[in-house]
Amino acid sequence: MRSAAGRTSPLKDAVRGAGAVAALLKRAGRQMIDMEKLSNPKKTIEIIQKNHFNFQKKFGQNFLIDAHVLEKIIAAAQITKDDFVLEIGPGIGTMTQYLAEAAREVAAVEIDRNLIPILEETLSDYDNVTVINEDILKVDIAALAGEKNGGKPIKVVGNLPYYITTPIVMGLLESNVPLESITVMVQKEVALRMQAGPGNKDYGALSLAVQYYAEPYLAANVPPNCFIPRPGVGSAVIVLTRRSVPAVQVQDERRMFRLIRASFNQRRKTLVNGLKNAGDLEYSREQILTALQKVGLSETVRGETLTLEQFAALADAFS
Ligand code: SAM
Repeated sequence: MRSAAGRTSPLKDAVRGAGAVAALLKRAGRQMIDMEKLSNPKKTIEIIQKNHFNFQKKFGQNFLIDAHVLEKIIAAAQITKDDFVLEIGPGIGTMTQYLAEAAREVAAVEIDRNLIPILEETLSDYDNVTVINEDILKVDIAALAGEKNGGKPIKVVGNLPYYITTPIVMGLLESNVPLESITVMVQKEVALRMQAGPGNKDYGALSLAVQYYAEPYLAANVPPNCFIPRPGVGSAVIVLTRRSVPAVQVQDERRMFRLIRASFNQRRKTLVNGLKNAGDLEYSREQILTALQKVGLSETVRGETLTLEQFAALADAFS
Protein backbone atom coordinates (compact mmCIF):
# COMPACT_ATOMS: atom_id res chain seq x y z
CA MET A 1 0.00 0.00 0.00
CA ARG A 2 1.13 3.55 -0.70
CA SER A 3 0.15 6.57 1.34
CA ALA A 4 -1.20 9.62 -0.46
CA ALA A 5 2.40 10.84 -0.65
CA GLY A 6 3.33 7.66 -2.54
CA ARG A 7 5.59 6.05 0.07
CA THR A 8 5.73 2.24 0.38
CA SER A 9 5.09 0.62 3.78
CA PRO A 10 7.96 -0.68 5.98
CA LEU A 11 6.41 -4.15 6.00
CA LYS A 12 6.44 -4.31 2.22
CA ASP A 13 10.07 -3.16 2.14
CA ALA A 14 10.97 -5.90 4.61
CA VAL A 15 9.30 -8.55 2.48
CA ARG A 16 11.21 -7.28 -0.56
CA GLY A 17 14.49 -7.45 1.36
CA ALA A 18 13.93 -11.10 2.29
CA GLY A 19 14.64 -12.26 -1.24
CA ALA A 20 12.63 -11.91 -4.41
CA VAL A 21 11.65 -15.52 -5.06
CA ALA A 22 10.81 -16.41 -1.48
CA ALA A 23 8.85 -13.19 -1.10
CA LEU A 24 6.87 -13.78 -4.24
CA LEU A 25 5.87 -17.28 -3.16
CA LYS A 26 5.08 -16.16 0.34
CA ARG A 27 3.13 -13.22 -0.95
CA ALA A 28 1.01 -15.27 -3.33
CA GLY A 29 0.12 -17.71 -0.56
CA ARG A 30 -0.57 -15.07 2.04
CA GLN A 31 -2.72 -12.95 -0.24
CA MET A 32 -5.03 -15.87 -0.90
CA ILE A 33 -5.34 -16.69 2.80
CA ASP A 34 -5.78 -13.04 3.80
CA MET A 35 -8.43 -12.42 1.15
CA GLU A 36 -10.33 -15.41 2.39
CA LYS A 37 -9.98 -14.34 5.98
CA LEU A 38 -10.73 -10.61 5.67
CA SER A 39 -14.16 -11.18 4.22
CA ASN A 40 -14.77 -13.66 7.00
CA PRO A 41 -16.51 -12.31 10.13
CA LYS A 42 -13.99 -13.86 12.53
CA LYS A 43 -11.04 -12.14 10.84
CA THR A 44 -12.86 -8.80 10.73
CA ILE A 45 -13.64 -9.03 14.46
CA GLU A 46 -10.05 -10.06 15.19
CA ILE A 47 -8.65 -7.02 13.34
CA ILE A 48 -11.11 -4.67 14.99
CA GLN A 49 -10.35 -5.97 18.48
CA LYS A 50 -6.59 -6.13 18.00
CA ASN A 51 -6.57 -2.47 16.92
CA HIS A 52 -9.12 -1.37 19.56
CA PHE A 53 -11.20 0.07 16.75
CA ASN A 54 -14.55 1.63 17.68
CA PHE A 55 -17.21 1.84 14.98
CA GLN A 56 -18.29 5.41 14.32
CA LYS A 57 -21.98 5.70 13.53
CA LYS A 58 -21.46 9.22 12.19
CA PHE A 59 -19.27 7.77 9.39
CA GLY A 60 -21.85 5.13 8.41
CA GLN A 61 -19.48 2.26 9.21
CA ASN A 62 -20.96 -1.13 8.31
CA PHE A 63 -18.20 -3.45 7.10
CA LEU A 64 -18.85 -6.19 4.56
CA ILE A 65 -18.20 -9.73 5.76
CA ASP A 66 -19.58 -11.77 2.87
CA ALA A 67 -17.17 -13.02 0.18
CA HIS A 68 -20.00 -13.82 -2.21
CA VAL A 69 -21.26 -10.22 -2.14
CA LEU A 70 -17.72 -8.89 -2.64
CA GLU A 71 -17.23 -11.10 -5.68
CA LYS A 72 -20.56 -9.90 -7.05
CA ILE A 73 -19.50 -6.26 -6.70
CA ILE A 74 -16.20 -6.86 -8.52
CA ALA A 75 -18.03 -8.74 -11.30
CA ALA A 76 -20.76 -6.09 -11.59
CA ALA A 77 -18.13 -3.33 -11.88
CA GLN A 78 -16.38 -5.32 -14.64
CA ILE A 79 -12.95 -4.49 -13.25
CA THR A 80 -10.00 -5.49 -15.44
CA LYS A 81 -6.21 -5.13 -15.16
CA ASP A 82 -6.45 -2.01 -17.36
CA ASP A 83 -8.57 -0.15 -14.82
CA PHE A 84 -7.79 2.55 -12.32
CA VAL A 85 -10.45 2.33 -9.58
CA LEU A 86 -11.42 4.94 -7.03
CA GLU A 87 -12.77 3.27 -3.90
CA ILE A 88 -14.89 5.35 -1.55
CA GLY A 89 -14.59 4.39 2.13
CA PRO A 90 -12.33 1.29 2.30
CA GLY A 91 -13.01 0.62 6.02
CA ILE A 92 -10.51 -2.07 7.05
CA GLY A 93 -9.69 -2.82 3.40
CA THR A 94 -11.83 -5.87 2.71
CA MET A 95 -13.12 -4.74 -0.69
CA THR A 96 -9.85 -2.95 -1.39
CA GLN A 97 -8.05 -6.29 -1.48
CA TYR A 98 -10.48 -7.63 -4.07
CA LEU A 99 -10.11 -4.44 -6.11
CA ALA A 100 -6.31 -4.54 -5.88
CA GLU A 101 -6.35 -8.10 -7.22
CA ALA A 102 -8.63 -7.25 -10.13
CA ALA A 103 -7.50 -3.74 -11.15
CA ARG A 104 -4.28 -2.13 -12.35
CA GLU A 105 -4.37 0.52 -9.65
CA VAL A 106 -6.63 1.57 -6.78
CA ALA A 107 -6.94 4.82 -4.83
CA ALA A 108 -9.01 4.41 -1.66
CA VAL A 109 -10.34 7.50 0.12
CA GLU A 110 -11.09 7.04 3.83
CA ILE A 111 -12.16 9.83 6.19
CA ASP A 112 -11.57 8.01 9.50
CA ARG A 113 -7.92 8.41 10.52
CA ASN A 114 -8.27 5.53 13.02
CA LEU A 115 -8.59 3.18 10.04
CA ILE A 116 -5.33 4.28 8.37
CA PRO A 117 -2.95 2.13 10.50
CA ILE A 118 -5.28 -0.84 10.00
CA LEU A 119 -5.26 -0.31 6.23
CA GLU A 120 -1.47 -0.12 6.31
CA GLU A 121 -1.51 -3.60 7.77
CA THR A 122 -4.26 -5.23 5.69
CA LEU A 123 -3.00 -3.76 2.40
CA SER A 124 0.71 -4.13 3.05
CA ASP A 125 1.11 -6.72 0.30
CA TYR A 126 -0.31 -4.53 -2.44
CA ASP A 127 1.88 -2.04 -4.24
CA ASN A 128 -0.96 -0.87 -6.49
CA VAL A 129 -3.07 0.73 -3.73
CA THR A 130 -2.86 4.31 -2.47
CA VAL A 131 -4.85 5.25 0.62
CA ILE A 132 -5.90 8.88 0.94
CA ASN A 133 -7.04 10.02 4.39
CA GLU A 134 -9.62 12.61 3.35
CA ASP A 135 -13.33 13.39 3.10
CA ILE A 136 -14.40 12.15 -0.36
CA LEU A 137 -16.51 15.28 -0.81
CA LYS A 138 -13.33 17.37 -0.61
CA VAL A 139 -11.15 15.32 -2.96
CA ASP A 140 -10.38 16.74 -6.41
CA ILE A 141 -11.39 13.57 -8.25
CA ALA A 142 -10.82 15.06 -11.71
CA ALA A 143 -7.20 15.81 -10.73
CA LEU A 144 -6.82 12.28 -9.32
CA ALA A 145 -8.16 10.79 -12.58
CA GLY A 146 -5.70 12.97 -14.48
CA GLU A 147 -2.76 11.86 -12.36
CA LYS A 148 -3.62 8.16 -12.10
CA ASN A 149 -5.47 7.46 -15.33
CA GLY A 150 -4.17 10.04 -17.79
CA GLY A 151 -7.58 11.77 -17.68
CA LYS A 152 -9.36 8.70 -19.09
CA PRO A 153 -12.74 7.69 -17.60
CA ILE A 154 -12.41 6.00 -14.22
CA LYS A 155 -14.48 3.40 -12.37
CA VAL A 156 -15.76 4.28 -8.92
CA VAL A 157 -16.60 1.48 -6.50
CA GLY A 158 -17.60 1.45 -2.85
CA ASN A 159 -19.78 0.30 -0.01
CA LEU A 160 -20.97 3.84 0.57
CA PRO A 161 -21.52 5.59 3.87
CA TYR A 162 -25.30 5.89 3.49
CA TYR A 163 -25.56 9.35 5.09
CA ILE A 164 -23.91 10.95 2.03
CA THR A 165 -25.04 8.68 -0.82
CA THR A 166 -26.79 11.41 -2.81
CA PRO A 167 -24.06 14.08 -2.55
CA ILE A 168 -21.43 11.52 -3.57
CA VAL A 169 -23.36 10.07 -6.52
CA MET A 170 -24.82 13.32 -7.82
CA GLY A 171 -21.52 15.13 -7.19
CA LEU A 172 -19.78 12.60 -9.46
CA LEU A 173 -22.46 12.63 -12.16
CA GLU A 174 -22.82 16.41 -12.30
CA SER A 175 -19.09 17.11 -12.21
CA ASN A 176 -16.51 17.16 -14.97
CA VAL A 177 -14.85 14.00 -13.60
CA PRO A 178 -14.02 11.61 -16.46
CA LEU A 179 -16.23 8.75 -15.35
CA GLU A 180 -17.05 5.33 -16.82
CA SER A 181 -19.20 3.84 -14.08
CA ILE A 182 -20.17 3.95 -10.41
CA THR A 183 -20.76 0.59 -8.72
CA VAL A 184 -21.89 1.09 -5.17
CA MET A 185 -23.65 -0.45 -2.21
CA VAL A 186 -26.46 1.83 -1.17
CA GLN A 187 -29.61 1.61 0.91
CA LYS A 188 -32.03 -0.63 -1.00
CA GLU A 189 -34.70 2.06 -0.96
CA VAL A 190 -32.28 4.50 -2.63
CA ALA A 191 -31.29 1.93 -5.28
CA LEU A 192 -34.97 1.43 -6.11
CA ARG A 193 -35.46 5.20 -6.42
CA MET A 194 -32.45 5.53 -8.73
CA GLN A 195 -33.82 3.03 -11.23
CA ALA A 196 -37.59 3.72 -10.99
CA GLY A 197 -39.64 4.97 -13.95
CA PRO A 198 -42.91 6.97 -14.22
CA GLY A 199 -45.89 5.44 -12.45
CA ASN A 200 -43.69 3.64 -9.91
CA LYS A 201 -44.04 4.70 -6.26
CA ASP A 202 -40.24 5.09 -6.03
CA TYR A 203 -40.05 7.43 -9.03
CA GLY A 204 -38.87 10.92 -8.13
CA ALA A 205 -36.33 13.69 -8.58
CA LEU A 206 -33.42 11.31 -7.80
CA SER A 207 -34.59 8.84 -10.50
CA LEU A 208 -34.65 11.57 -13.13
CA ALA A 209 -31.36 13.15 -12.07
CA VAL A 210 -29.54 9.80 -12.10
CA GLN A 211 -31.11 8.62 -15.36
CA TYR A 212 -30.32 11.89 -17.12
CA TYR A 213 -26.60 11.18 -16.69
CA ALA A 214 -26.41 7.39 -16.35
CA GLU A 215 -28.00 4.01 -17.04
CA PRO A 216 -28.83 2.29 -13.74
CA TYR A 217 -28.75 -1.46 -13.18
CA LEU A 218 -29.56 -3.13 -9.88
CA ALA A 219 -26.95 -5.89 -9.57
CA ALA A 220 -27.77 -7.45 -6.19
CA ASN A 221 -29.90 -7.19 -3.08
CA VAL A 222 -27.85 -7.50 0.10
CA PRO A 223 -29.39 -8.38 3.50
CA PRO A 224 -28.20 -6.80 6.82
CA ASN A 225 -26.43 -10.00 7.96
CA CYS A 226 -23.70 -9.43 5.34
CA PHE A 227 -22.30 -6.54 7.44
CA ILE A 228 -20.72 -5.88 10.83
CA PRO A 229 -22.49 -4.15 12.53
CA ARG A 230 -25.78 -4.99 10.83
CA PRO A 231 -27.47 -1.92 9.33
CA GLY A 232 -31.11 -1.31 10.20
CA VAL A 233 -32.09 -1.32 6.51
CA GLY A 234 -31.70 -3.57 3.47
CA SER A 235 -28.96 -2.74 0.96
CA ALA A 236 -28.40 -3.17 -2.77
CA VAL A 237 -25.57 -2.91 -5.26
CA ILE A 238 -26.34 -0.53 -8.09
CA VAL A 239 -24.27 0.04 -11.23
CA LEU A 240 -24.57 3.47 -12.87
CA THR A 241 -22.97 3.51 -16.30
CA ARG A 242 -22.27 7.07 -17.37
CA ARG A 243 -23.89 8.05 -20.66
CA SER A 244 -21.60 9.66 -23.24
CA VAL A 245 -24.28 12.33 -23.70
CA PRO A 246 -27.26 13.04 -21.39
CA ALA A 247 -30.42 10.99 -22.00
CA VAL A 248 -32.34 13.99 -23.37
CA GLN A 249 -31.49 17.29 -25.01
CA VAL A 250 -32.76 20.37 -23.20
CA GLN A 251 -32.00 24.05 -23.68
CA ASP A 252 -31.67 24.85 -19.98
CA GLU A 253 -30.71 21.91 -17.74
CA ARG A 254 -31.10 23.93 -14.54
CA ARG A 255 -34.61 25.00 -15.41
CA MET A 256 -35.56 21.37 -16.14
CA PHE A 257 -34.25 20.21 -12.74
CA ARG A 258 -36.05 23.07 -10.98
CA LEU A 259 -39.30 21.93 -12.64
CA ILE A 260 -38.59 18.33 -11.63
CA ARG A 261 -37.92 19.23 -8.00
CA ALA A 262 -41.03 21.41 -7.82
CA SER A 263 -43.20 18.63 -9.29
CA PHE A 264 -42.08 16.05 -6.75
CA ASN A 265 -41.97 18.38 -3.73
CA GLN A 266 -45.73 18.33 -3.84
CA ARG A 267 -46.42 14.87 -5.19
CA ARG A 268 -50.13 14.80 -4.38
CA LYS A 269 -50.81 18.07 -6.24
CA THR A 270 -51.38 18.54 -9.96
CA LEU A 271 -48.35 19.69 -11.90
CA VAL A 272 -49.92 23.16 -12.34
CA ASN A 273 -50.30 23.65 -8.57
CA GLY A 274 -46.89 22.12 -7.82
CA LEU A 275 -45.14 24.53 -10.18
CA LYS A 276 -47.18 27.52 -9.08
CA ASN A 277 -46.33 26.97 -5.39
CA ALA A 278 -42.60 26.41 -5.98
CA GLY A 279 -40.37 28.98 -4.30
CA ASP A 280 -37.67 29.06 -6.98
CA LEU A 281 -40.02 29.33 -10.01
CA GLU A 282 -41.96 32.45 -10.84
CA TYR A 283 -44.49 31.34 -13.41
CA SER A 284 -48.11 32.47 -13.40
CA ARG A 285 -50.90 29.92 -13.75
CA GLU A 286 -51.44 31.17 -17.32
CA GLN A 287 -47.79 30.69 -18.26
CA ILE A 288 -47.85 27.16 -16.84
CA LEU A 289 -51.08 26.28 -18.69
CA THR A 290 -49.66 27.62 -21.97
CA ALA A 291 -46.47 25.58 -21.57
CA LEU A 292 -48.45 22.43 -20.77
CA GLN A 293 -50.61 23.00 -23.83
CA LYS A 294 -47.55 23.47 -26.04
CA VAL A 295 -46.28 19.99 -25.10
CA GLY A 296 -49.69 18.34 -25.21
CA LEU A 297 -50.19 17.75 -21.48
CA SER A 298 -53.54 18.13 -19.71
CA GLU A 299 -53.97 20.69 -16.94
CA THR A 300 -54.83 17.93 -14.46
CA VAL A 301 -51.62 15.96 -15.09
CA ARG A 302 -49.42 15.04 -12.11
CA GLY A 303 -45.66 15.46 -12.25
CA GLU A 304 -45.05 11.87 -11.16
CA THR A 305 -46.43 10.57 -14.49
CA LEU A 306 -44.04 12.59 -16.70
CA THR A 307 -41.05 10.99 -18.42
CA LEU A 308 -37.64 12.66 -18.60
CA GLU A 309 -38.39 13.54 -22.27
CA GLN A 310 -41.62 15.27 -21.20
CA PHE A 311 -39.84 17.27 -18.48
CA ALA A 312 -37.24 18.35 -21.04
CA ALA A 313 -39.96 19.39 -23.52
CA LEU A 314 -41.79 21.27 -20.76
CA ALA A 315 -38.62 23.12 -19.74
CA ASP A 316 -38.09 24.13 -23.40
CA ALA A 317 -41.72 25.28 -23.59
CA PHE A 318 -41.00 27.89 -20.88
CA SER A 319 -38.16 29.47 -22.82
N1 SAM B 1 -15.60 -0.63 2.29
C1 SAM B 1 -15.72 -1.10 3.66
C2 SAM B 1 -16.46 -2.40 3.67
O1 SAM B 1 -17.26 -2.63 2.76
O2 SAM B 1 -16.29 -3.18 4.60
C3 SAM B 1 -16.38 -0.06 4.56
C4 SAM B 1 -17.72 0.47 4.11
S1 SAM B 1 -18.55 1.47 5.31
C5 SAM B 1 -20.22 1.28 4.83
C6 SAM B 1 -18.26 3.15 4.75
C7 SAM B 1 -16.83 3.64 4.88
O3 SAM B 1 -16.77 4.99 4.41
C8 SAM B 1 -16.30 3.68 6.30
O4 SAM B 1 -15.01 3.16 6.33
C9 SAM B 1 -16.30 5.16 6.66
O5 SAM B 1 -15.34 5.52 7.63
C10 SAM B 1 -16.02 5.78 5.31
N2 SAM B 1 -16.50 7.18 5.15
C11 SAM B 1 -17.56 7.77 5.74
N3 SAM B 1 -17.70 9.05 5.34
C12 SAM B 1 -16.70 9.28 4.45
C13 SAM B 1 -16.29 10.43 3.70
N4 SAM B 1 -16.96 11.58 3.75
N5 SAM B 1 -15.19 10.32 2.91
C14 SAM B 1 -14.50 9.14 2.84
N6 SAM B 1 -14.83 8.04 3.53
C15 SAM B 1 -15.92 8.08 4.33
